[in-house]
Amino acid sequence: MAAAPEPIHDIAHLGSVELLTPKPEQSLWYFRDLLGMEPVHESGASVYLRGYGDYATSTLKLTGAKTNGVGCISWRAASPQALERRAKAIEDAGLGIGWSNGDYGRGRSYRFRDPDGHVMEIYYEEQKFVAPPELHSTLKNLPQKYTGRGVCVRRVDHLALLAKDVEANRKFATGLLGFQLREQVRYDDGKTEIGSWMSPTAIHHQLAYVVDVKAAHGRLHHFSLWVDNRDDVLRAADILIENGIFIEAGPSKHNNSQGFYLYSYEPGGNRVEIYSGSFLVTAPDWEPVTWDEKERGTGTYWGATLPDSFIEYATPDVQTDTKGPLPEVLKEAIASLS
Ligand code: FE
Repeated sequence: MAAAPEPIHDIAHLGSVELLTPKPEQSLWYFRDLLGMEPVHESGASVYLRGYGDYATSTLKLTGAKTNGVGCISWRAASPQALERRAKAIEDAGLGIGWSNGDYGRGRSYRFRDPDGHVMEIYYEEQKFVAPPELHSTLKNLPQKYTGRGVCVRRVDHLALLAKDVEANRKFATGLLGFQLREQVRYDDGKTEIGSWMSPTAIHHQLAYVVDVKAAHGRLHHFSLWVDNRDDVLRAADILIENGIFIEAGPSKHNNSQGFYLYSYEPGGNRVEIYSGSFLVTAPDWEPVTWDEKERGTGTYWGATLPDSFIEYATPDVQTDTKGPLPEVLKEAIASLS
């Protein structure tokens, strides 16, 4: 038996996600008052927020912009040496943008683009979060007290990006960043890749790539925040509806990842998932689970079928070049997002 390549453990986890919003005040209201995230810093057009269980100072950067979508996606490296190694490998692959002095609370970072054009960065140095007195928890191992405000999400979980060429981006994430491939959806020919779910941690997936049915580049499908149980997801549905927020899908259960989900649009138009119940993966020799079109079905294990908007809408929104309805197979593929 041929030896498997030595795994790369240079990326520790998803650090933070920058969301762009044309309605910064309303988006801040959504994440602060409805989801219960805590604003910790402001700079220029950006507000930095955190979940009460996040160890990092900030995990969401909300930036006022002309359009919506995803800004910079930040990954924390496992060590200073790991940061240098990954930066070199990415630079050698021709995807590098360059070094910067680092964002709020962090040391220098190396910016780059994935093959689809999404902007990412890796960093290592991070300021330890120290809760101000009003947020101090009596629980010694909790970085900030549980405020119970709104949904009160615990932490960031993952994000799902659209890509014109899923395979190229999956190879980038597994080969260059060292992520483990967890699940995939392929056409019945077994070759064409529709979606791939990957992670650098035991969390089922922290990054997903799914085919962009409008053949655009650099788009966001959704950003996902974790709550501890299904009841919290149901409670989130009540809170969002009471505040006039559109719920697009759920609460229901995915088959891929087994996650229990709820999708809404924050006021800036970005799709946000409230998520719980998925499983952890600790096996170093995990064999990726591959689903074909038929097995995937509607993308839900149980619960209502995902609406067409789930397939056709992403941020920033673009007009489709496709004439007529989308092929059924692509609808099924996108419906498999989790
Ligand atoms: Fe998701």
